Amino acid sequence: MGGPVRDALLGRPIKDLDFCVEGDAPALAQRLAVELAGQTVVHPRFGTATVLAAGSRFDLVTARRETYAHPGALPRVTPSGIRDDLARRDFSINAMAIQLPGEPSEVLDHWGGLEDLRLGVVRTLHDKSFIDDPTRVFRAIRYEQRLGFRIDEKTLGHLKDAVDRGLVAALSPDRLRHEVERILEEENPRMALARCVDLGVLQAVHPALNDLDKLERLSVGAGSEPESPPGKPMVYLAALVSDLSAQEGEELIGRLNMPEGWRRTVRDSIRLRGMVDELNDDSLSPSGLVHLLEDVSVEAVTALELTSVDTVVKQGVHRFLTELRFVEPGLDGRDLLQLGVPPGPLLGRILSRLRDDVLDGRAATDAGRRRLVRRLVKDSMAETAGKPSSAEAIKDAGHG
Ligand code: ATP
Repeated sequence: MGGPVRDALLGRPIKDLDFCVEGDAPALAQRLAVELAGQTVVHPRFGTATVLAAGSRFDLVTARRETYAHPGALPRVTPSGIRDDLARRDFSINAMAIQLPGEPSEVLDHWGGLEDLRLGVVRTLHDKSFIDDPTRVFRAIRYEQRLGFRIDEKTLGHLKDAVDRGLVAALSPDRLRHEVERILEEENPRMALARCVDLGVLQAVHPALNDLDKLERLSVGAGSEPESPPGKPMVYLAALVSDLSAQEGEELIGRLNMPEGWRRTVRDSIRLRGMVDELNDDSLSPSGLVHLLEDVSVEAVTALELTSVDTVVKQGVHRFLTELRFVEPGLDGRDLLQLGVPPGPLLGRILSRLRDDVLDGRAATDAGRRRLVRRLVKDSMAETAGKPSSAEAIKDAGHG
Protein backbone atom coordinates (compact mmCIF):
# COMPACT_ATOMS: atom_id res chain seq x y z
CA MET A 1 0.00 0.00 0.00
CA GLY A 2 0.97 3.67 -0.26
CA GLY A 3 4.28 4.66 -1.87
CA PRO A 4 5.25 1.19 -3.18
CA VAL A 5 1.89 0.76 -4.98
CA ARG A 6 2.24 4.25 -6.46
CA ASP A 7 5.80 3.58 -7.60
CA ALA A 8 5.00 0.10 -8.96
CA LEU A 9 2.14 1.53 -11.03
CA LEU A 10 4.44 4.25 -12.33
CA GLY A 11 7.15 1.72 -13.14
CA ARG A 12 9.53 3.42 -10.74
CA PRO A 13 11.91 1.56 -8.44
CA ILE A 14 10.29 0.47 -5.20
CA LYS A 15 12.10 1.18 -1.95
CA ASP A 16 10.62 -0.56 1.09
CA LEU A 17 7.36 -2.49 0.99
CA ASP A 18 4.63 -1.37 3.38
CA PHE A 19 1.90 -3.78 4.50
CA CYS A 20 -1.27 -2.80 6.24
CA VAL A 21 -2.85 -5.43 8.51
CA GLU A 22 -6.49 -5.45 9.53
CA GLY A 23 -5.60 -6.84 12.94
CA ASP A 24 -2.50 -7.06 15.06
CA ALA A 25 0.46 -6.08 12.83
CA PRO A 26 3.19 -6.66 15.46
CA ALA A 27 1.87 -10.18 16.16
CA LEU A 28 1.83 -11.02 12.44
CA ALA A 29 5.31 -9.54 12.05
CA GLN A 30 6.61 -11.80 14.79
CA ARG A 31 5.12 -14.87 13.14
CA LEU A 32 6.59 -13.87 9.80
CA ALA A 33 10.00 -13.35 11.34
CA VAL A 34 9.90 -16.90 12.73
CA GLU A 35 8.80 -18.33 9.34
CA LEU A 36 11.46 -16.40 7.46
CA ALA A 37 14.16 -16.85 10.11
CA GLY A 38 14.42 -13.08 10.38
CA GLN A 39 14.01 -10.43 13.05
CA THR A 40 11.36 -7.92 14.02
CA VAL A 41 11.50 -4.45 15.48
CA VAL A 42 8.15 -3.73 17.10
CA HIS A 43 6.67 -0.36 18.05
CA PRO A 44 3.70 -1.47 20.16
CA ARG A 45 2.55 2.09 20.82
CA PHE A 46 2.01 2.70 17.12
CA GLY A 47 0.90 -0.84 16.27
CA THR A 48 3.71 -1.11 13.75
CA ALA A 49 6.60 -3.48 13.18
CA THR A 50 9.50 -3.90 10.80
CA VAL A 51 10.57 -7.33 9.61
CA LEU A 52 14.17 -7.89 8.58
CA ALA A 53 14.67 -11.16 6.74
CA ALA A 54 16.74 -12.55 3.88
CA GLY A 55 18.48 -9.24 3.34
CA SER A 56 15.29 -7.25 2.89
CA ARG A 57 13.01 -5.26 5.16
CA PHE A 58 9.34 -4.44 5.14
CA ASP A 59 6.98 -2.61 7.43
CA LEU A 60 3.66 -3.79 8.80
CA VAL A 61 1.15 -1.37 10.27
CA THR A 62 -2.10 -2.07 12.02
CA ALA A 63 -4.89 -0.53 9.96
CA ARG A 64 -5.99 2.56 11.84
CA ARG A 65 -8.04 5.65 11.88
CA GLU A 66 -6.64 9.07 12.68
CA THR A 67 -8.25 12.17 14.11
CA TYR A 68 -6.64 15.52 14.76
CA ALA A 69 -7.34 17.48 17.95
CA HIS A 70 -6.18 20.72 16.34
CA PRO A 71 -4.25 21.79 13.23
CA GLY A 72 -0.63 20.66 13.30
CA ALA A 73 -1.23 18.36 16.27
CA LEU A 74 -0.08 14.76 16.08
CA PRO A 75 -3.03 12.55 15.20
CA ARG A 76 -5.06 10.46 17.68
CA VAL A 77 -4.95 6.87 16.44
CA THR A 78 -7.45 4.01 16.86
CA PRO A 79 -7.35 0.54 15.19
CA SER A 80 -9.66 0.15 12.19
CA GLY A 81 -9.92 -1.30 8.64
CA ILE A 82 -7.96 -0.71 5.41
CA ARG A 83 -10.44 1.85 4.14
CA ASP A 84 -9.92 4.08 7.17
CA ASP A 85 -6.21 3.51 6.95
CA LEU A 86 -6.11 4.69 3.36
CA ALA A 87 -8.37 7.62 4.26
CA ARG A 88 -5.69 9.04 6.53
CA ARG A 89 -3.23 9.29 3.62
CA ASP A 90 -2.01 12.56 2.24
CA PHE A 91 -2.79 12.27 -1.47
CA SER A 92 -4.88 10.04 -3.70
CA ILE A 93 -1.76 8.70 -5.42
CA ASN A 94 -0.56 7.46 -2.00
CA ALA A 95 -3.96 6.11 -0.94
CA MET A 96 -4.01 2.87 -2.90
CA ALA A 97 -3.40 -0.69 -1.80
CA ILE A 98 -3.24 -4.15 -3.28
CA GLN A 99 -5.13 -6.80 -1.32
CA LEU A 100 -3.30 -9.99 -0.32
CA PRO A 101 -3.89 -12.64 -1.29
CA GLY A 102 -5.19 -11.30 -4.57
CA GLU A 103 -4.28 -10.15 -8.04
CA PRO A 104 -1.81 -7.26 -8.35
CA SER A 105 -4.22 -5.73 -10.83
CA GLU A 106 -6.92 -5.45 -8.13
CA VAL A 107 -6.01 -2.10 -6.70
CA LEU A 108 -8.03 -0.72 -3.79
CA ASP A 109 -8.60 2.82 -4.93
CA HIS A 110 -11.34 4.74 -3.16
CA TRP A 111 -9.99 8.23 -3.93
CA GLY A 112 -9.24 8.14 -7.63
CA GLY A 113 -5.53 7.53 -7.21
CA LEU A 114 -5.28 5.54 -10.46
CA GLU A 115 -6.87 8.35 -12.43
CA ASP A 116 -4.62 10.92 -10.76
CA LEU A 117 -1.57 8.84 -11.58
CA ARG A 118 -2.73 8.78 -15.18
CA LEU A 119 -3.33 12.54 -15.19
CA GLY A 120 -0.15 13.30 -13.27
CA VAL A 121 -1.94 15.09 -10.46
CA VAL A 122 -1.24 15.46 -6.74
CA ARG A 123 -4.58 15.76 -5.00
CA THR A 124 -5.51 15.68 -1.31
CA LEU A 125 -8.33 13.42 -0.16
CA HIS A 126 -10.31 16.26 1.42
CA ASP A 127 -10.32 20.03 1.79
CA LYS A 128 -8.96 20.14 5.34
CA SER A 129 -5.96 17.94 4.62
CA PHE A 130 -3.33 20.68 4.96
CA ILE A 131 -5.05 22.01 8.05
CA ASP A 132 -4.91 18.57 9.67
CA ASP A 133 -1.25 18.24 8.81
CA PRO A 134 0.62 21.19 7.29
CA THR A 135 3.70 19.02 6.63
CA ARG A 136 1.68 17.80 3.65
CA VAL A 137 2.47 21.15 2.02
CA PHE A 138 6.08 20.04 1.68
CA ARG A 139 5.06 16.53 0.72
CA ALA A 140 2.79 17.79 -2.09
CA ILE A 141 5.65 19.82 -3.52
CA ARG A 142 8.07 16.93 -3.21
CA TYR A 143 5.85 14.49 -5.09
CA GLU A 144 4.90 17.07 -7.68
CA GLN A 145 8.50 17.83 -8.51
CA ARG A 146 9.84 14.30 -8.14
CA LEU A 147 7.23 12.74 -10.37
CA GLY A 148 6.89 15.64 -12.80
CA PHE A 149 3.22 15.98 -11.77
CA ARG A 150 1.20 19.09 -11.00
CA ILE A 151 -0.67 19.90 -7.83
CA ASP A 152 -4.39 19.89 -8.61
CA GLU A 153 -5.87 23.40 -8.72
CA LYS A 154 -8.21 23.03 -5.77
CA THR A 155 -5.50 21.32 -3.74
CA LEU A 156 -3.14 24.16 -4.62
CA GLY A 157 -5.69 26.67 -3.38
CA HIS A 158 -5.90 24.89 -0.04
CA LEU A 159 -2.14 24.63 0.11
CA LYS A 160 -1.70 28.37 -0.41
CA ASP A 161 -4.42 29.04 2.10
CA ALA A 162 -2.60 26.92 4.71
CA VAL A 163 0.61 28.87 4.06
CA ASP A 164 -1.22 32.22 4.23
CA ARG A 165 -2.83 31.22 7.51
CA GLY A 166 0.60 30.62 9.00
CA LEU A 167 0.10 26.88 9.47
CA VAL A 168 3.49 26.01 7.98
CA ALA A 169 5.17 28.68 10.08
CA ALA A 170 3.50 27.20 13.17
CA LEU A 171 5.01 23.72 12.70
CA SER A 172 7.47 22.64 15.37
CA PRO A 173 11.19 23.10 14.54
CA ASP A 174 11.79 19.35 14.41
CA ARG A 175 8.88 18.65 12.06
CA LEU A 176 9.93 21.54 9.83
CA ARG A 177 13.52 20.35 9.73
CA HIS A 178 12.40 16.84 8.86
CA GLU A 179 10.46 18.17 5.86
CA VAL A 180 13.31 20.41 4.73
CA GLU A 181 15.67 17.46 5.08
CA ARG A 182 13.47 15.24 2.94
CA ILE A 183 13.48 17.88 0.23
CA LEU A 184 17.25 18.22 0.43
CA GLU A 185 17.50 14.44 0.05
CA GLU A 186 15.44 14.37 -3.13
CA GLU A 187 17.25 13.45 -6.30
CA ASN A 188 16.51 16.91 -7.63
CA PRO A 189 16.13 19.23 -4.63
CA ARG A 190 16.48 22.38 -6.71
CA MET A 191 13.11 22.05 -8.40
CA ALA A 192 11.30 21.34 -5.16
CA LEU A 193 13.07 24.21 -3.40
CA ALA A 194 12.22 26.56 -6.25
CA ARG A 195 8.58 25.55 -6.02
CA CYS A 196 8.69 26.10 -2.25
CA VAL A 197 9.92 29.64 -2.83
CA ASP A 198 7.28 30.24 -5.50
CA LEU A 199 4.59 29.24 -3.05
CA GLY A 200 6.05 31.16 -0.10
CA VAL A 201 6.73 27.94 1.79
CA LEU A 202 10.42 28.49 2.44
CA GLN A 203 9.67 32.07 3.44
CA ALA A 204 7.37 30.61 6.09
CA VAL A 205 10.41 28.82 7.46
CA HIS A 206 12.46 32.04 7.39
CA PRO A 207 11.59 35.21 5.46
CA ALA A 208 15.13 35.56 4.11
CA LEU A 209 14.85 32.25 2.22
CA ASN A 210 13.39 33.95 -0.79
CA ASP A 211 16.12 33.84 -3.37
CA LEU A 212 17.11 30.88 -5.44
CA ASP A 213 19.92 32.37 -7.51
CA LYS A 214 22.57 30.26 -5.91
CA LEU A 215 20.58 27.08 -6.26
CA GLU A 216 19.92 27.85 -9.89
CA ARG A 217 23.64 28.07 -10.44
CA LEU A 218 24.24 24.93 -8.40
CA SER A 219 22.40 22.96 -11.00
CA VAL A 220 23.82 24.83 -13.96
CA GLY A 221 27.26 24.38 -12.44
CA ALA A 222 27.54 20.71 -13.31
CA GLY A 223 24.94 19.72 -15.84
CA SER A 224 21.25 19.62 -15.14
CA GLU A 225 21.89 18.66 -11.53
CA PRO A 226 25.24 18.16 -9.84
CA GLU A 227 26.12 14.50 -9.97
CA SER A 228 25.50 13.85 -6.33
CA PRO A 229 28.41 15.76 -4.83
CA PRO A 230 29.43 14.08 -1.60
CA GLY A 231 27.12 15.19 1.20
CA LYS A 232 24.65 16.53 -1.36
CA PRO A 233 21.87 17.52 1.07
CA MET A 234 24.31 19.68 3.01
CA VAL A 235 25.72 21.16 -0.21
CA TYR A 236 22.20 22.29 -1.09
CA LEU A 237 21.68 23.63 2.40
CA ALA A 238 24.94 25.58 2.10
CA ALA A 239 23.88 27.07 -1.24
CA LEU A 240 20.46 27.91 0.13
CA VAL A 241 21.75 29.89 3.10
CA SER A 242 24.95 31.43 1.78
CA ASP A 243 23.43 34.87 1.21
CA LEU A 244 21.89 35.12 4.68
CA SER A 245 23.40 37.45 7.25
CA ALA A 246 25.06 35.85 10.26
CA GLN A 247 22.04 36.82 12.34
CA GLU A 248 19.59 35.32 9.87
CA GLY A 249 21.69 32.17 9.85
CA GLU A 250 21.42 31.90 13.62
CA GLU A 251 17.67 32.50 13.44
CA LEU A 252 17.32 29.72 10.91
CA ILE A 253 19.44 27.39 13.04
CA GLY A 254 17.05 27.98 15.95
CA ARG A 255 13.97 27.83 13.76
CA LEU A 256 14.86 24.32 12.58
CA ASN A 257 16.56 23.22 15.79
CA MET A 258 19.49 22.18 13.63
CA PRO A 259 21.85 19.45 14.76
CA GLU A 260 25.57 20.13 14.85
CA GLY A 261 26.33 19.10 11.24
CA TRP A 262 23.66 21.45 9.90
CA ARG A 263 24.75 24.30 12.14
CA ARG A 264 28.30 24.01 10.94
CA THR A 265 27.23 23.98 7.30
CA VAL A 266 25.09 27.10 7.76
CA ARG A 267 27.71 29.06 9.69
CA ASP A 268 30.54 28.05 7.38
CA SER A 269 28.59 28.83 4.26
CA ILE A 270 27.83 32.34 5.51
CA ARG A 271 31.42 32.85 6.68
CA LEU A 272 32.73 31.62 3.35
CA ARG A 273 30.77 34.25 1.50
CA GLY A 274 32.83 36.83 3.41
CA MET A 275 36.04 35.26 2.06
CA VAL A 276 35.14 35.50 -1.59
CA ASP A 277 37.14 38.70 -2.22
CA GLU A 278 40.26 37.09 -0.80
CA LEU A 279 39.64 33.97 -2.87
CA ASN A 280 39.10 36.02 -6.00
CA ASP A 281 42.81 36.79 -6.30
CA ASP A 282 44.85 34.86 -8.83
CA SER A 283 48.08 35.62 -6.98
CA LEU A 284 46.85 33.67 -3.96
CA SER A 285 49.33 30.86 -3.29
CA PRO A 286 48.22 27.24 -2.81
CA SER A 287 49.16 27.47 0.88
CA GLY A 288 47.15 30.70 1.13
CA LEU A 289 44.14 28.89 -0.32
CA VAL A 290 44.54 26.04 2.12
CA HIS A 291 44.83 28.40 5.09
CA LEU A 292 41.61 30.11 4.08
CA LEU A 293 39.59 26.97 3.41
CA GLU A 294 40.91 24.13 5.52
CA ASP A 295 38.64 24.63 8.50
CA VAL A 296 35.53 25.36 6.44
CA SER A 297 33.12 22.43 5.96
CA VAL A 298 33.71 20.63 2.68
CA GLU A 299 30.01 20.88 1.81
CA ALA A 300 30.09 24.68 2.12
CA VAL A 301 33.22 24.83 -0.04
CA THR A 302 31.63 22.48 -2.60
CA ALA A 303 28.56 24.72 -2.76
CA LEU A 304 30.82 27.71 -3.40
CA GLU A 305 32.64 25.85 -6.15
CA LEU A 306 29.40 24.95 -7.87
CA THR A 307 27.70 28.32 -7.51
CA SER A 308 30.49 30.85 -7.94
CA VAL A 309 30.47 32.97 -11.06
CA ASP A 310 34.09 34.09 -10.61
CA THR A 311 36.44 31.86 -12.58
CA VAL A 312 39.34 32.52 -10.22
CA VAL A 313 37.27 31.55 -7.18
CA LYS A 314 35.85 28.51 -8.93
CA GLN A 315 39.24 27.24 -10.06
CA GLY A 316 40.96 27.91 -6.75
CA VAL A 317 38.23 26.19 -4.78
CA HIS A 318 38.20 23.28 -7.21
CA ARG A 319 41.93 22.84 -6.81
CA PHE A 320 41.57 22.96 -3.04
CA LEU A 321 38.84 20.32 -3.05
CA THR A 322 40.42 17.91 -5.49
CA GLU A 323 44.10 18.28 -4.69
CA LEU A 324 45.45 20.79 -2.19
CA ARG A 325 43.50 19.68 0.87
CA PHE A 326 45.09 16.24 0.63
CA VAL A 327 48.69 17.49 0.50
CA GLU A 328 50.81 16.22 3.40
CA PRO A 329 53.95 17.84 4.84
CA GLY A 330 56.08 14.97 3.51
CA LEU A 331 57.55 14.22 6.93
CA ASP A 332 55.68 13.21 10.06
CA GLY A 333 56.13 13.92 13.77
CA ARG A 334 58.40 10.93 14.23
CA ASP A 335 60.69 12.08 11.44
CA LEU A 336 60.88 15.50 13.06
CA LEU A 337 61.78 14.08 16.47
CA GLN A 338 64.55 12.09 14.79
CA LEU A 339 65.78 15.28 13.17
CA GLY A 340 66.15 16.81 16.63
CA VAL A 341 62.92 18.83 16.86
CA PRO A 342 61.94 18.98 20.54
CA PRO A 343 58.42 17.74 21.36
CA GLY A 344 56.07 20.69 21.85
CA PRO A 345 54.50 23.54 19.89
CA LEU A 346 57.55 24.03 17.66
CA LEU A 347 56.95 20.60 16.17
CA GLY A 348 53.44 21.57 15.09
CA ARG A 349 54.67 24.88 13.67
CA ILE A 350 57.38 23.17 11.67
CA LEU A 351 54.95 20.58 10.28
CA SER A 352 52.63 23.36 9.19
CA ARG A 353 55.49 25.31 7.62
CA LEU A 354 56.67 22.16 5.86
CA ARG A 355 53.23 21.59 4.40
CA ASP A 356 53.09 25.20 3.18
CA ASP A 357 56.42 24.77 1.44
CA VAL A 358 55.35 21.47 -0.11
CA LEU A 359 52.11 23.11 -1.29
CA ASP A 360 53.95 26.05 -2.81
CA GLY A 361 56.58 23.83 -4.42
CA ARG A 362 59.45 25.05 -2.24
CA ALA A 363 60.24 21.71 -0.60
CA ALA A 364 59.97 19.28 -3.42
CA THR A 365 62.50 16.69 -2.29
CA ASP A 366 62.96 14.70 0.88
CA ALA A 367 66.49 16.08 1.30
CA GLY A 368 65.20 19.62 0.93
CA ARG A 369 62.49 19.03 3.53
CA ARG A 370 64.99 17.62 6.00
CA ARG A 371 67.34 20.54 5.41
CA LEU A 372 64.48 22.94 6.01
CA VAL A 373 63.63 21.24 9.31
CA ARG A 374 67.21 21.43 10.55
CA ARG A 375 67.44 25.10 9.66
CA LEU A 376 64.11 25.88 11.29
CA VAL A 377 65.27 24.18 14.47
CA LYS A 378 68.53 26.08 14.37
CA ASP A 379 66.66 29.26 13.69
CA SER A 380 64.34 28.73 16.57
CA MET A 381 67.22 28.00 18.92
CA ALA A 382 68.97 31.13 17.74
CA GLU A 383 65.80 33.13 18.39
CA THR A 384 65.45 31.64 21.85
CA ALA A 385 69.06 32.58 22.53
CA GLY A 386 68.26 36.15 21.45
CA LYS A 387 70.34 36.03 18.31
CA PRO A 388 69.04 37.41 14.99
CA SER A 389 67.27 34.71 13.01
CA SER A 390 68.58 33.42 9.71
CA ALA A 391 65.46 33.97 7.68
CA GLU A 392 67.35 33.52 4.45
CA ALA A 393 68.29 29.99 5.47
CA ILE A 394 64.67 28.97 5.42
CA LYS A 395 63.93 30.59 2.12
CA ASP A 396 66.16 28.48 -0.07
CA ALA A 397 65.88 25.22 1.86
CA GLY A 398 63.76 23.63 -0.86
CA HIS A 399 66.23 23.86 -3.68
CA GLY A 400 68.10 20.70 -2.97
P1 ATP B 1 8.97 8.37 -0.35
O1 ATP B 1 9.23 7.77 -1.69
O2 ATP B 1 9.21 9.83 -0.27
O3 ATP B 1 9.53 7.61 0.80
P2 ATP B 1 6.55 7.35 0.53
O4 ATP B 1 5.25 7.45 -0.17
O5 ATP B 1 7.09 6.02 0.84
O6 ATP B 1 7.45 8.25 -0.31
P3 ATP B 1 6.69 8.06 3.35
O7 ATP B 1 6.96 9.42 3.87
O8 ATP B 1 7.66 6.98 3.63
O9 ATP B 1 6.43 8.23 1.81
O10 ATP B 1 5.26 7.67 3.84
C1 ATP B 1 4.68 6.41 3.56
C2 ATP B 1 3.22 6.60 3.30
O11 ATP B 1 2.60 7.11 4.47
C3 ATP B 1 2.90 7.60 2.19
O12 ATP B 1 2.79 6.95 0.94
C4 ATP B 1 1.61 8.19 2.62
O13 ATP B 1 0.55 7.37 2.20
C5 ATP B 1 1.66 8.10 4.14
N1 ATP B 1 2.05 9.36 4.77
C6 ATP B 1 3.27 9.76 5.16
N2 ATP B 1 3.25 10.96 5.70
C7 ATP B 1 1.98 11.36 5.69
C8 ATP B 1 1.29 12.52 6.12
N3 ATP B 1 1.95 13.55 6.67
N4 ATP B 1 -0.04 12.56 5.96
C9 ATP B 1 -0.70 11.52 5.42
N5 ATP B 1 -0.13 10.42 4.96
C10 ATP B 1 1.20 10.33 5.09
